[in-house]
Amino acid sequence: MARKNRDETASWHVELEPTLCPLCERAIPDDQKEDHHLIPKSKGGKITVPLHRVCHRQIHAIFTDSQLAKTFGSIPALLEDPAIQKFVAWIKSKPPGFSDAAKDSREVSARNRRP
Ligand SMILES: [Zn+2]
Ligand SMILES: [Zn+2]
Repeated sequence: MARKNRDETASWHVELEPTLCPLCERAIPDDQKEDHHLIPKSKGGKITVPLHRVCHRQIHAIFTDSQLAKTFGSIPALLEDPAIQKFVAWIKSKPPGFSDAAKDSREVSARNRRP
């Protein structure tokens, strides 16, 4: 590792770098950034990683807190799961700003519209 002393005064520049989602490796827009506890808070976990809201929701849709605490408490472990792999392959084909909000609102308006 190179010494990083020189970077100290410029550390605020880091905020301008896009945050990459460790799950799908796309940049995360600020309004879609959510912190995921690798080990759930309810299980005593403290380490968080920033993820897309959609990616974060997907993790919790697939795994229970117990599964996350026991088996899937790291990004590499999550990425080895076939359900996550399938999701990542799908979400990678979407633009960085993609969220499933559009899908949700379409479903809602379809439900409210009477034939
Ligand atoms: Zn993501
Ligand atoms: Zn989470």
